[in-house]
Amino acid sequence: MELACLDLEGVLIPEIWIAFAEETGIEELKATTRDIPDYDVLMKQRLRILDEHGLTLPQIQDTISRLSPLEGAREFVDWLRERYQVVILSDTFYEFAEPLMKQLGYPTLLCHKLEVNEEGRITDYTLRQRDPKRQSVRAFQLLNYRVVATGDSYNDTTMLSQAEAGILFHAPKNVIEEFPQYPAVHTYEDLKAEFVKASVRDLTV
Ligand SMILES: [Mg+2]
Repeated sequence: MELACLDLEGVLIPEIWIAFAEETGIEELKATTRDIPDYDVLMKQRLRILDEHGLTLPQIQDTISRLSPLEGAREFVDWLRERYQVVILSDTFYEFAEPLMKQLGYPTLLCHKLEVNEEGRITDYTLRQRDPKRQSVRAFQLLNYRVVATGDSYNDTTMLSQAEAGILFHAPKNVIEEFPQYPAVHTYEDLKAEFVKASVRDLTV
């Protein structure tokens, strides 16, 4: 049995925080896991910036409501779901992801939760567990699944190493250079080819 684990932001949808940074013009909000590998440090910085500017969850959700999946993402997910069981492992939050998941046909999503007060201010966040992407892959392996994983950033690399096969997609140069053991592709057609190659089944038919 084979399962595909996909990162969400940068792989299927745009980076939510970058979109919000562009709408608000707050440069500091553009930092992602590509820049700050420690997710806790990154999230604390984001919440501090939101507070300083008095920004709330509904304002972020308003930006997200205007986003679409990356071009070709929906077709890729549909293609993949005919060939693998597909689970999305993301460091985003359910409160952010929902409208975009609808546009992707609601694949299974494992991610985190925000804590929000009555005024809509994000007061904290609950990470599902430590090292969630790797732990999820481990758990699937305990259920006798063979896992092929794909992601674009530092927060995906433990998932890629835990999986039986890992693929970098849309990764920046520094990540590709630091992790030369993974094939690195940039189009959904090439990503499909890597999923075909990574399978122990014959998926060419
Ligand atoms: Mg990503």
